[in-house]
Amino acid sequence: MNAAPEGRPGPIKAIGLMSGGLDSTLAARVLLEQGIEVTGLHYSTGFCMNDHRRAMARPEEDPKRMRNEGLRAGADLGIPIEILDAGEAYMKMVLNPKHGYGKRANPCIDCRIFMIHGAAEYMREHGGHFVFTGEVLGQRPMSQHMQALRMIEKECGIEGYLLRPLSARHLPPTIPEQLGWVDREGLLGLSGRSRRDQMALGEKWGIADYPQPSGGCCYLADESFARRFHDKRLHAEPDRIRRDEMILLKVGRHFRLSDAVKIIVARDESENQFLARFDLPGWRFEALRCGSPITVVEGDPDENLKILIASITARYSDRRGESLVEVAARRDGREEVLIVPPVADQVLEAYRI
Ligand code: SF4
Repeated sequence: MNAAPEGRPGPIKAIGLMSGGLDSTLAARVLLEQGIEVTGLHYSTGFCMNDHRRAMARPEEDPKRMRNEGLRAGADLGIPIEILDAGEAYMKMVLNPKHGYGKRANPCIDCRIFMIHGAAEYMREHGGHFVFTGEVLGQRPMSQHMQALRMIEKECGIEGYLLRPLSARHLPPTIPEQLGWVDREGLLGLSGRSRRDQMALGEKWGIADYPQPSGGCCYLADESFARRFHDKRLHAEPDRIRRDEMILLKVGRHFRLSDAVKIIVARDESENQFLARFDLPGWRFEALRCGSPITVVEGDPDENLKILIASITARYSDRRGESLVEVAARRDGREEVLIVPPVADQVLEAYRI
């Protein structure tokens, strides 16, 4: 790494958001090149796809798709990484974002504000001179245009102390630059959606092992998750949606049967085991004497809906080819057995979320 510029008061410490993607990795590397000490913060939001894959632990899963990319990037760069649990406050923000959603269920502006605000708090508690991110001007339509970058900085309460090393040359000089803590000449002037320049820089610095941006990593930006998420918001007051209901949006097949009743049908044994870990208040259905998905029910179904739920469960069981299937419905130690035909696919599709 290069030596620190002359005139610095001593070691300069930067606190950065480290998702582990190419941009945040490069941003950290740009600062390391200037001899700045870097600590990375990686948020566990509850919506990271890799974290979920790790929780599912499917034996056939590619280990690379289950790793924590923040920790991996920290190890590659030789910098410490702190994992921060975004917790309930993040969940509340996701359900009620001040700046609204992007194309899916992604509240990207509020999410950036949440994380940068957290990084500023971390800096106040643990010491540090400024916060940095891997944001690139114009890369994301919602959160990375000039106005959004300015607003995010202002709302985080660290105006002047938020550095975006990859696009700094397009932005007004920050206080760390004005004070000579960071050499502006060593910062970059990247902008736009193309990642060609980042990839070239990665190659130059030997950074090759990073998640592909096209692969997606956040459930909130995923199309099918977003359908389920907005269905949930439409049918429940945001303040009354429980954390476990949000987590369950990530697994299974979802069907809305009425305004008040929806079901989740596990897709395989890993999802059965995942659902079994939750102590949910409602009914659970399972076909008897065969391989069967667990179906969990949200809301209180009447007798007709119970028959429909049993038929859907039978449809996804190993006895789907039989004319009648016995399905157990269990709740609070009670068990009812319903004998039903598996539902026809065209009927099923009308309920799918
Ligand atoms: S894609 Fe997800 S993690 Fe990334 S900024 Fe948007 S909401 Fe936050």
